[in-house]
Amino acid sequence: MVNINSNIPGIFGSMVFGDAVMKERLPKDIYKALKKTIANGTHLELDVANVVASAMKDWAIEKGATHFTHWFQPMTGITAEKHDSFIVPDGDGQAIMEFSGKALVKGEPDASSFPSGGLRTTFEARGYTAWDPTSYAFIKDNTLCIPTAFCSYSGEALDMKTPLLRSMQALNHQALRVLHLFGVTDAKRVVSSVGPEQEYFLIDKDVFLKRPDLMYCGRTLFGARPPKGQEMEDHYFGAIKHRVYEFMKELNEELWKLGVYAKTQHNEVAPAQHELAPIYRESNIATDHNQLVMELMKSIAAKHNLACLLHEKPFAGVNGSGKHINWSISTDKGINLLEPGDTPFENAQFLLFLVAVIKAVDDYQDLLRVSVASAGNDHRLGANEAPPAIVSIFLGDELTEILNALENDTLYECKGKTLMEIGATVLPHFPKDTTDRNRTSPFAFTGNKFEFRMLGSSFSIAGPIIILNTIVAEVLRQFADELEKSNDFKSDLSKLIKRTIKQHKRIIFNGNGYDQSWVKEAERRGLLNLKTTPEALPALIHPKNVEMFARHRVFTEHEIHSRYDILLENYSKAINIEALTMIDMVNKQVIPAVLDYENELAELIIRKRAISPDIIASPEENLLNKIARLSECLEKRLEYLTEQTVAVRDIKDNLELAKAYRERVYMAMSELRLVVDELELLISSRHWKIPTYAEILYSVNE
Ligand code: ADP
Ligand code: MG
Repeated sequence: MVNINSNIPGIFGSMVFGDAVMKERLPKDIYKALKKTIANGTHLELDVANVVASAMKDWAIEKGATHFTHWFQPMTGITAEKHDSFIVPDGDGQAIMEFSGKALVKGEPDASSFPSGGLRTTFEARGYTAWDPTSYAFIKDNTLCIPTAFCSYSGEALDMKTPLLRSMQALNHQALRVLHLFGVTDAKRVVSSVGPEQEYFLIDKDVFLKRPDLMYCGRTLFGARPPKGQEMEDHYFGAIKHRVYEFMKELNEELWKLGVYAKTQHNEVAPAQHELAPIYRESNIATDHNQLVMELMKSIAAKHNLACLLHEKPFAGVNGSGKHINWSISTDKGINLLEPGDTPFENAQFLLFLVAVIKAVDDYQDLLRVSVASAGNDHRLGANEAPPAIVSIFLGDELTEILNALENDTLYECKGKTLMEIGATVLPHFPKDTTDRNRTSPFAFTGNKFEFRMLGSSFSIAGPIIILNTIVAEVLRQFADELEKSNDFKSDLSKLIKRTIKQHKRIIFNGNGYDQSWVKEAERRGLLNLKTTPEALPALIHPKNVEMFARHRVFTEHEIHSRYDILLENYSKAINIEALTMIDMVNKQVIPAVLDYENELAELIIRKRAISPDIIASPEENLLNKIARLSECLEKRLEYLTEQTVAVRDIKDNLELAKAYRERVYMAMSELRLVVDELELLISSRHWKIPTYAEILYSVNE
């Protein structure tokens, strides 16, 4: 880890129209009205918006901005922006700079080219963007960016932000109901916060440009194992290379200017792999910031003649990149509801929230799995070299024993203290970092937050947060419904906690999640193991899930079906692009290299024989034969892959198509890859022009 010294307080947030700037530049009453809107999520009046817009424009122009944009997050996984300049003709052939309240709060980008999963055909092409004032406006590339939610003409969500805000609302509502039962009335709002840890690879841009597969698919479609991989474990937390350091320095500074608390950075396990983690923020802001992190990683890498790879598995046989989201819920009074607290009362409240999360994860394993499903992440979850795709919770031995004791009414002894009766005795303080920081668990309790570790590195974190917020809201709703009817709160609370532990303890697993025996054990426990995206996605439209989303107004039935279609389409498209890229690379690069080398060997054999028939040419002949046999196999497998990519196009049903891409096209690609990788090891590097794994992974070496 390195600390980069610079004038951080001086630059931090300097490109953000944040609270301090608002306070300084807005009239008092307008500032107050805006703050109220932000705090209560209420509507922003147009007269207020006009004043805010004008102040924002003046500030932005002083900072060099010429344009503004509604910055939004369509279902492409990345952000979108359409720039308009502030210029307005003044009638005398001159121009003035203007920005109205209307332009601030609402935009109308043409929605027709963004994925809508069928929503487009039933609604107008027009889409609306609406400012989310809880996420501050900022300046990027001389453009004032206004974080917005993106909806169709009739208000259906076309983006990641809208359902995220709705899920935060649902969680807020249900958590407040539960807190009221505990007599907590000072809290006005409950929010979920997230700290995302982002992994990525950095390689030299020149090498990147020589690999069409990296350029078009984000991952290498072939490549034999390098002689040195990550086995020496010398990269993890190792000294950071100068070029990487320069990149990180600029990245941090740009992020700080945008108000992102970029905090830790270090080398990861694989060569060329790194991680960046900012300090946690409210879910919607953390999401906006993570999008900025990914975007800036790419653009700043390019400035340093580097390429940043965000794909989940750029290299087979080398660790892939994931993203961990550290998730917690707290009140506007700063009380973390996943913090055990000091009094029996706080402990009881903590236990209820804890078992709510346990139940939510168990009841909705399928949705959590869906939230991390993608063609890229399939290489990490459930693949040979990665953790299984099973969702389970790590609690640590101590907390698990406490739950056991509660469930069985036995005494729990810890450091001379005996437990316990819910709401009567104090929980022991369990140290946050006990021996068992289990890195193999997909969902781990880490003292006062949960860490969900199954996300792919390229994901928008909004998807998994929407699911987490909503499923926990749903369980809190069930708990509140039950306890609000109770005449004996303490006794019924205790019963509810015990019952929940009994019913859902199967989801708790503190052992090694990477061990094969866990797969069997999980099956015995009846836990889901949805290995691939096509296997996982149908859960999204399962009636129990559709009903839950609708109940909490996070997705309408129509919206969830549209997302399902988009996700299936994205999956099929990703594999299709990979297959076409592979076919192209084999035809244009692999086969010519093989032919050239075969030709060279054949000529050598002929020349040798011409000198004298007695000269032995068997090493060359053996090699040529070996390559010839592999080329034959290459031709067959290439033909088969080509046939499959054409054949699947006739499939009309989206799910069947995705399955066919997995079972036929992807499998054919894997077979073809094996031959190419064998050939790579035999062909001379004079002919093999595609950079090898070693050349890519060690391309940044100073
Ligand atoms: P690790 O040891 O897994 O790298 P850290 O303790 O460094 O974890 O924290 C990782 C992330 O968790 C950071 O983004 C941090 O800000 C975030 N985090 C810490 N506390 C909380 C919390 N209460 N809620 C949400 N995220 C948190
Ligand atoms: Mg972590």
